Amino acid sequence: MSFPYDAPVSQTLFDRASLVTPGGVNSPVRAFRAVGGTPRFMVSGNGPYLTDADGREYVDLVCSWGPMILGHSHPEVIAAVQEAVARGTSFGTPGEGEVALAEEIVGRVEPVEQVRLVSSGTEATMSAIRLARGFTGRAKVVKFAGCYHGHVDALLAAAGSGVATFGLPDTPGVTGAQAGDTIVLPYNDLDAVREAFAAHPGEIACVITEASPGNMGVVPPLDGFNAGLKELCAANGALYISDEVMTGFRTSKAGWFGVDGVRPDLMTFGKVMGGGFPAAAFGGRADVMAHLAPVGPVYQAGTLSGNPIATAAGLAQLRLLDDAAYAKVDAVSAEIRGLVSEALAKEGVAHTVQAASNMFSVFFTDRPVRNYEDAKQQEAFRFTAFFHSLLSQGVYLPPSAFESWFVSTAHDTQAVERIAAALPAAARAASEATA
Ligand code: PLP
Repeated sequence: MSFPYDAPVSQTLFDRASLVTPGGVNSPVRAFRAVGGTPRFMVSGNGPYLTDADGREYVDLVCSWGPMILGHSHPEVIAAVQEAVARGTSFGTPGEGEVALAEEIVGRVEPVEQVRLVSSGTEATMSAIRLARGFTGRAKVVKFAGCYHGHVDALLAAAGSGVATFGLPDTPGVTGAQAGDTIVLPYNDLDAVREAFAAHPGEIACVITEASPGNMGVVPPLDGFNAGLKELCAANGALYISDEVMTGFRTSKAGWFGVDGVRPDLMTFGKVMGGGFPAAAFGGRADVMAHLAPVGPVYQAGTLSGNPIATAAGLAQLRLLDDAAYAKVDAVSAEIRGLVSEALAKEGVAHTVQAASNMFSVFFTDRPVRNYEDAKQQEAFRFTAFFHSLLSQGVYLPPSAFESWFVSTAHDTQAVERIAAALPAAARAASEATA
C-alpha cells in the first residue's frame, strides 16, 4: 500500500540508524515491518501526546508499551527523577529507594512476600524460571502459545509480541537443549495442561503464563483458567508463575491478581513499576525466594539492579496510582473502545474488541479470540490500513495487530476527541482494504 503521509526527518534518521543497528531499531516491532512505512522517531512526550522528529503530534495509544500509565512527563515523576539524579546515578550498593519500591510492591500484591529487583521483564521471567527449577529440582517448563515472556531462550517457543508479529515459529540461536525442556500448550486449555502433567510426572518445575495475555492482542483468561492452573500446579508439585510484566500495576492497584485473586507462587513485574525507566522485579512466596543467592544457592545478580533513578521514578509513579487513577484509566479505555467499535460497525468491518481492565485490542474478525490460533485468523491487512489512516491523522497505535493498546490518566477529553475525529476515515480505510 502507499503511505499517505511521509516523514522526511524520521526517514533520514531511520536511514542513519539502519547503517549502524540491525533493522534500524533496538526492539523489532518498532521497525514498522508488520505495517510498512517509516517508523516515527519521537523527540518528546507530554501527557497523552508524542511529538516526532518532523514536528507532528500524535495521541499516543502505545504509552511505551504500557509503562506510561500517567502519561508522558508527569510533573511529579519528573521531579522525583531530577531529585534522584542530582544525588548520583548509580552506586552499586544497597539504597533506600530500592527498599521503598520493594515495600510498595509487597504492600500492593499480597502473594508477594519478598521481591528481587532487576532491570527488564526478560530478566525477571528468566530469573523466576531459574528459581522455580532450582526450588523444585525439576527441568521442564510449561508455557502457552502466544504468551510472550521476554526473549528468554527457553520461553521464545511459540511466543507472542514481536515473535507473533513476524510469524517466527522459533528463533535460530536457541538450541535444542535450551528449548527442549519447554512444553508449549494452547492458551485457555486446561485439559492440555492436565495431559502434560500426566505425561511428565515429577518433571515439570513450573507453569508460566501471562496473568492476562496482551502479547497476541488482548486475550483474557476464561473463567476459572488461572485458578485451574494454580490447582494443577499445586496438585503436581510445580510452581505457578504469573507474568504480570504487562498487567502489573496497570490492570488494578494489585495488577491482574487484584482482578482474579488467584494466588501465584511467583510473579514477575516490569513496565509500570519502572515509571519509564528500566526496572522490573520477580517475587512471591518467601520460602521459594529464600532459595536465591545470597541466602540460597540459586544465583541471580545485576550491576544496575535497583538503580536509584529507576526506583525513584517507579516509586513516584506507583504512589500516584490510587483507586481514582485506575477508575480514570478504565473509563477512558472503555470510551475509546466504544468509539472504535462504533466506527468499525458503521463501515461494516468485522471486528472484536477485547479488554482486560484498561488494556484492550481490536481483532479484525467477528469471532471471539481465545488463543493464538484464533488471533491468527484475523484479517491483519485491515489493521494495516486502519493503522496508517490513524497515523496520518495523528493517532499512534501499536504497529502490529498482535499487541495491546494502552491509555493513561492523561488521556483527556481533547485527546479522545482527536481519536474520535480520526476514526471514521480509518474505519473506511479498513473496510476498503484488500489482502
Ligand atoms: N513479560 C511480558 C508479559 C511482557 O509483555 C514483556 C514485554 O513486553 C516481557 C515479559 C519482557 O519485558 P522486557 O521487554 O522489559 O524485557
